[in-house]
Amino acid sequence: MQVHTVGEGTPEVAVVGAVHGDEPCGARAIERFLDGDPDVDRPAKLIVANEPALERGIRYVDTDLNRSLPGDPESDQYEERLAHELMTEVQGCISLGIHSTVSYGRPFANVAYLNERKREVVAHLPVDQVVDFTVVADGRSVELPGFLDVEAGHQGSTAAVDNAYDCIVAFLRTTGVLPGDPPAPDPGFYEVTEPMYKEPGRTYRFRGANFERVAPGERFADVDDDPLVADEEFWPVLMSDDGHDVLFGYRSTYRGPLSSLSAPSHGDANAESVTDD
Ligand SMILES: [Zn+2]
Repeated sequence: MQVHTVGEGTPEVAVVGAVHGDEPCGARAIERFLDGDPDVDRPAKLIVANEPALERGIRYVDTDLNRSLPGDPESDQYEERLAHELMTEVQGCISLGIHSTVSYGRPFANVAYLNERKREVVAHLPVDQVVDFTVVADGRSVELPGFLDVEAGHQGSTAAVDNAYDCIVAFLRTTGVLPGDPPAPDPGFYEVTEPMYKEPGRTYRFRGANFERVAPGERFADVDDDPLVADEEFWPVLMSDDGHDVLFGYRSTYRGPLSSLSAPSHGDANAESVTDD
């Protein structure tokens, strides 16, 4: 794990790239940011998490780091030990993890257990959608009280690096590390209701589009030559033909613009001002 610190003092802000080694955009965007030798108003950490997996272009070495938190320093699995180290590094920080996907080209944000602090940050990322993963957050970084993620675009694309860089700058402005105003795009808020798993040995083809409503009765996918029909409406998230071995994607419900949601009930003593309420 590489940990770069900018500014003086103990950082309370962190950016984490390469949680998944086959998603290089976060590490590349961190390099670009550091190459610019930025002037900062307060310190921040920039972390490249899974270096061996990044070097090999694979998601993980032994097991998925983003299902392994809080980790175990005694484990014989590399990512379990790494998860423990990462937890230690981001302790006390508000953190942004950078990911990418095969399912969607535009950046969107992932949260769980939305609190005031996360809400403040996510409202100022350059994204059109925020997805609440609370129901499936177990072992993922977004489960932590000060952690949220962005999916920056297609895995391996230069656009994902550009989007990741823009998200890092916006995040560091919102948290007061960089001067300047972050954007305030008022993204749509989608709440994941359930994962959809694949039946082993069958071929899936997604016919819809992520974040676009699937109506009751709509044929949204084919499994081999059989139609897969929605029994009730949902909004697909991270749905793709072959993005994952066993997971086809997630069903979600659209809740409206982020600004229309009532304030989260999870209190946070470290919360700074909230933009809308
Ligand atoms: Zn990822």
